[in-house]
Amino acid sequence: METESNIKNFFRDKKLIPIVLALLTFLSCLFYFSGFAYAVVVDGKAIGYVKQQDEAAEAIKEAKDYIKKFYGLDASTADEVEYQRARPPKGQIMDKEQCKIAFLNGLDFKAHAACIYIDGKKAVALKDKAAAESTLDTIKTLLSGGDANASFKQKVEIKEENVAPGEVTQTDKAHDILLKSDKMTTYTVKQGDTLWNIAIANGTSADKLLALNKDIKETTMQPGDTVVLDKPQPLVTVVTKNVVTFNMPIPFEIESVGDSSLPIRITRVKQEGVDGSKKVQAEIVKENGVEVARNVLSEEVLSQPVKKIVRIGTNRTLASGIFSYPVTGVLTSRFGQRWGREHTGVDLAVAKGTRVKAADGGKVIFAGSCSGYGILVKIDHGNGYVTYYGHLSKTLVSRGERVAKGDVIALSGNTGHTTGPHLHFEVRKNGTPVNPLSYLSR
Ligand SMILES: [Zn+2]
Repeated sequence: METESNIKNFFRDKKLIPIVLALLTFLSCLFYFSGFAYAVVVDGKAIGYVKQQDEAAEAIKEAKDYIKKFYGLDASTADEVEYQRARPPKGQIMDKEQCKIAFLNGLDFKAHAACIYIDGKKAVALKDKAAAESTLDTIKTLLSGGDANASFKQKVEIKEENVAPGEVTQTDKAHDILLKSDKMTTYTVKQGDTLWNIAIANGTSADKLLALNKDIKETTMQPGDTVVLDKPQPLVTVVTKNVVTFNMPIPFEIESVGDSSLPIRITRVKQEGVDGSKKVQAEIVKENGVEVARNVLSEEVLSQPVKKIVRIGTNRTLASGIFSYPVTGVLTSRFGQRWGREHTGVDLAVAKGTRVKAADGGKVIFAGSCSGYGILVKIDHGNGYVTYYGHLSKTLVSRGERVAKGDVIALSGNTGHTTGPHLHFEVRKNGTPVNPLSYLSR
């Protein structure tokens, strides 16, 4: 009863009513504000809600730890993160793990890296300057074959800057990018393949394949071997310059001298040529191992060349040893047996008055009439051969005259024993008639 009367007394005491109201207001406010949280705002855009700000700060740290673990890089962000008190939709409050993922997606994390620039263009990013330097050294060695005097043709710089962590590559990958070896196309040799059929099937040539595959020889090629079909040019060109000394031949010159004791166009070597020799000092410039220039710095002659001297015949009246047709005409009678008689030459049918030319250079030893031959010219070529030109209408040379090959010596006709106008042409070797067709050239 006493308790009951105390409550009655409590309410009777009107002084307590404001205190109770204040207490109720406080409790309802506490209930109302407990539904509030913080909107996480990145550069003006809400990426989610968290209950406590320090949870979000912890989540950013965990996101950085994740990048460190995954990429081995210290990441930072320049993004502005703000927290705004808000009443999130039901069930939208992120826990720490969700918040970390939201930050990884929503924040622009950057890592400090060393970027290799080629002619002002970023080629590849590495984790630090040492990695970038070692990458460039390796590329130099690979492209120059280990030459100590190697330098890049392009402007190659290392710039330290902040990049997206995913942009930073490992050194192996960086080599591939710079050498473009990831763009290389290859072919695996099958049973029965030859370099030639591989080239045809892949739209290239065997020569190109041999140049790209210095270690592969057709004879030793085995199924399963890899043949490089195409190798793109690396992004960088390594230039090497080396001074070398070597001996070089000095080619001899050829001097021609006219010689009237030789028939026209006949040549004789008067003196054999001998190459000279010189000691050359030159700077050899190579690009990616391929010589592109050879700059001669000095030359020292060790021995002078000896010129070759050739005598060239100028004497048109001496025999060349080769007979040409004296006229152009139809062969009407061959050398040899004819109607039971020996025909000592060939007959070439030509109209009367056709110009008859000396078959070779020589000396006229007869020009006049000669029974069956009619009007006849004989030329002694001075090499054991004499030619006869018969049944002429007129001679244009006289005995003792020297004639050149091709000179007009007479006009054809129909004199002597003939059945019609033609030229009888005869070749005698040491006095014996031989078949002119075996000697003639047109
Ligand atoms: Zn005849």
